[in-house]
Amino acid sequence: MHSSNRPLVQLFLVSTLVLLLSCSGTLTAALFWKEYKSGIYWQEPTIIDPGGSNQVPSDAIVLFDGKSLDAWNGGEKWIIEDGAATTAGGSINTKQKFGDCQLHLEFATPFEVKGNGQGRGNSGVYLMGRYEVQVLDSHENTTYYDGQCAAIYKQTPPIVNACRKPGEWQTYDIIFTAPGFNDDGSVKTSGYVTVLQNGIVVQNHFELQGGTSYVAPASYAKHGEKESLSLQFHGNKTRFRNIWIRENVHAPKGEQLGGRPQEPATPESV
Ligand code: MG
Repeated sequence: MHSSNRPLVQLFLVSTLVLLLSCSGTLTAALFWKEYKSGIYWQEPTIIDPGGSNQVPSDAIVLFDGKSLDAWNGGEKWIIEDGAATTAGGSINTKQKFGDCQLHLEFATPFEVKGNGQGRGNSGVYLMGRYEVQVLDSHENTTYYDGQCAAIYKQTPPIVNACRKPGEWQTYDIIFTAPGFNDDGSVKTSGYVTVLQNGIVVQNHFELQGGTSYVAPASYAKHGEKESLSLQFHGNKTRFRNIWIRENVHAPKGEQLGGRPQEPATPESV
């Protein structure tokens, strides 16, 4: 062999050795390792179009698109202007009723700062018409902590104060699990609420203590599996826009089929 070929031959031999070892490892794994399969049969998750940023997911119900509050009782009292609805004349509640849900909305407290404490940009998101996620101008505006913006009113303060300045648009993304009741009216399962304000977790799976009230401790009173969603009028000109809601937010339920392994859906079976 010509001496100049030696490095090439050595490289070839080393590469072959590495390849053989690698193949034998794969073979060994195939022979001795067994993949874990749960034996649970899962339905294929529904395919939806999440949309881009500031777009509505394909399976959402639009409650306010910037033009009409037709989805709401009392909406005719509010003022619609420049794609936003300003509170006026009374609270509004959805014609359709909802239970467990994911709710998205945007709000802006008045640009012009007036009043203080609970009197600044006060509104509220009333899940099922009775569990309030507070809306308030809490930018450099102190009030009782379990009544500030993103509090579950009189039940818990938010984890952090993630408020933007007065007049600036803010987002709420709320994940809500409705409470359940026994026939005698007692609570079977509590309600739970998670809230992201401007993308920040401000409530994390908080266990609701009952309906929120200004004058009484929180308490549950039996209600339907679905109820209207309300937005509060509290005398302040708070604006809302881009409101949508998604139902069917339950965790998937698998079916135990006696050890049958889960197979991915084939294109033919979809
Ligand atoms: Mg309020």
